[in-house]
Amino acid sequence: MVPCLDEAGVIEPLLAALDAERASVGRRYADFEILVVDDGSTDATLDLVKAAAERDPRVRYLSLSRNFGKEAAMLAGLGHARGRAVAIMDADLQHPPHLLARMLELLEEGADQVVARRNRTGDSWTRTRLSRGFYKLMNAMTEVHVDDGAGDFRLLGPVAVRAILSMEERNRFSKGLFAWIGLRTSVIDYDNVGRTGGASRWKLRSLVKYGLDGLLSFNFKPLRAALYLGLVVTTVAFLYAAWVLGRAIIVGVDVPGYVTLVCTVVWLGGVQLILLGVLGEYLGRIYLEVKRRPHYIVASSNDERESRAGGDPTRGVSTR
Ligand code: UDP
Ligand code: MG
Repeated sequence: MVPCLDEAGVIEPLLAALDAERASVGRRYADFEILVVDDGSTDATLDLVKAAAERDPRVRYLSLSRNFGKEAAMLAGLGHARGRAVAIMDADLQHPPHLLARMLELLEEGADQVVARRNRTGDSWTRTRLSRGFYKLMNAMTEVHVDDGAGDFRLLGPVAVRAILSMEERNRFSKGLFAWIGLRTSVIDYDNVGRTGGASRWKLRSLVKYGLDGLLSFNFKPLRAALYLGLVVTTVAFLYAAWVLGRAIIVGVDVPGYVTLVCTVVWLGGVQLILLGVLGEYLGRIYLEVKRRPHYIVASSNDERESRAGGDPTRGVSTR
């Protein structure tokens, strides 16, 4: 299952590579099929996939009504995949298809999910450091353990697919979700590969947002930290007030104090805004959750029979 956004430049090499792979594992997995989820591409991606589906009935596609983001696209794909096991792969050939055979073996040996974990060769020094730092923080703060490099290139067995589909939250940080479901997980390592064509859509801003999503959707420690910070600030303020009052009683009021006053007001204002921001982040997430909108809308597809998602509005709806 391949989520795609504007991948016209690489979709054909990808389908060819998967086809070659199918030739090698196909003897044992005759019903191996390719499901492309078009996440609202504005280029020729969908046309190319449709053409491929005409030529080869084992290519299926699902076209979402607009860009819903990779997380929603993956959910759509998992819901509509019919295979007992589902492999999730990027379109840009950064997830080498030749690993699939080994991943299938590990699944047969009893794993419920098989993760292909990349190293960071080729990534910039800052990016590597930032990512490492993020995963350290994430692992320290939350109860799930997320491996650096263990991303969305995975093979999920039937139990894992059902487990992921059973989580209906709107803010989906799938790296965390995959870790949260637990189950027997096998890992294989591979060397990082660059994109074959096109460009990654991850800008620093979206990475920061993604990181925040990860941290906030798995725990409420920031809220607790806010509470502790509030307690500390109140205690310090109280002690300081007592000291000022004591001094005023004993030595009288000395008027200069403008600097202290301004600093205190400004600083406390800042702290309060930050804490409000933390609250707001959670509130916004709750707001999105309670609306219970579908995660995605399917605009068209070449086959929807037997999909796990069916017409369940919590899993996405189909307009056909
Ligand atoms: N993708 C998607 N919807 C989006 C963004 C990305 O389906 O809104 C797909 C994209 O086509 C690719 C995969 O998600 O198949 C990973 O995207 P990208 O290569 O941009 O991310 P990176 O590899 O840099 O993490
Ligand atoms: Mg990529």
